[in-house]
Amino acid sequence: MQNEYFPAEKIAAIRELLLRATHIVIVTHMSPDGDAMGSALGMWHFLNGKWKMENGKSVAVVVPNRFPAFFNWMPGVENVVIYDEQRAEADRLIEEADLLVCTDFNDPKRIGQVGNLLLQKACPKVLIDHHLFPADFADVTLSYPESPSASELVCKLIRSLSDYTDREMATCLYTGMMTDTGNFSFNSNYPEMYETVASLVRMGVDKDAVYNAVFNAHSADRMRLVGYSLYQKMRLFPERHASLIALSRKELYRFHFQPGDAEGIVNMPLQISDVYYSCFMREDKIEPHERERAGDAKSKIKISFRSQGDRPVNRFASDFFHGGGHANAAGGEFFGTLEEAVQCFLDHYPDYFLSM
Ligand code: 5GP
Ligand code: MN
Repeated sequence: MQNEYFPAEKIAAIRELLLRATHIVIVTHMSPDGDAMGSALGMWHFLNGKWKMENGKSVAVVVPNRFPAFFNWMPGVENVVIYDEQRAEADRLIEEADLLVCTDFNDPKRIGQVGNLLLQKACPKVLIDHHLFPADFADVTLSYPESPSASELVCKLIRSLSDYTDREMATCLYTGMMTDTGNFSFNSNYPEMYETVASLVRMGVDKDAVYNAVFNAHSADRMRLVGYSLYQKMRLFPERHASLIALSRKELYRFHFQPGDAEGIVNMPLQISDVYYSCFMREDKIEPHERERAGDAKSKIKISFRSQGDRPVNRFASDFFHGGGHANAAGGEFFGTLEEAVQCFLDHYPDYFLSM
């Protein structure tokens, strides 16, 4: 891991902001995944454990909505405040904050009401992220879309600020690096990342235990939902090497759907030898803050795209599903019925997916 990774003036500015702040709130994205949880909690452990959080200073993590239960084991998770469920507490924390540290998202517009609060809040903000096209809202922005995880960036930031080591901090950061690379199976070809991993394992991370805690921790309902999706719902479009799985709310209900239960299903069709594009749609309810955008639609369809090689899917996501993302991992949403979203996919995928 190189100490010189970030521009010295940005590190100096962040150091100054952290030293000056007394009430720091760390914020991450909606439907938190392993990298959101890992980057936010890694930062929390660093600030709480080492960086002078005595003398009346405090640090908190606020997430917009509940994270999947398979992150319940993460060290420090009991301190995470969930905006949807603990609104008064979250409002108070953000109200009192004199520094906001944002991790793993590029635009407050994408994190619901917490994003609105963040934009309205007049206090210094730091953004640490790896998504393309960061919005210009923070005082210091560390945006590195070439990095496979925000957790790795947080790790490098911490290393640039201090030689602090801590097993719990390292465990959170490792979790984010592991999940955003599919256990180091994509976006994972650059050697320097393994130097970061080595430094985390040296801090005492039990990487095999983290793997088990995250990937071997599903409910029987989730396994049956996967089975159902692949056996009954997967549609293949061989001439474009594509796959589509679309699940209605009724189908999800049948499998007692919990947050995180659909995680990874979008990747599975890519295991078929000649499938290079995968789309996964899931009918969801419209949140209060989306009402206006939804018009008279009764449902929101959450859409995920994955692809392999030189076959970008982000333009399809942005042209038709108000979304975007990376070339090989993108997503968006559709306000309308699941059937309409599927029809939109069927009408347009041949224009976006290659036949080779
Ligand atoms: P996922 O399929 O895991 O929800 O999202 C994969 C990637 O697609 C995300 O990292 C993000 O870059 C992008 N993405 C997903 N949903 C949306 C969306 O609604 N809007 C935009 N702009 N990007 C999205
Ligand atoms: Mn991430």
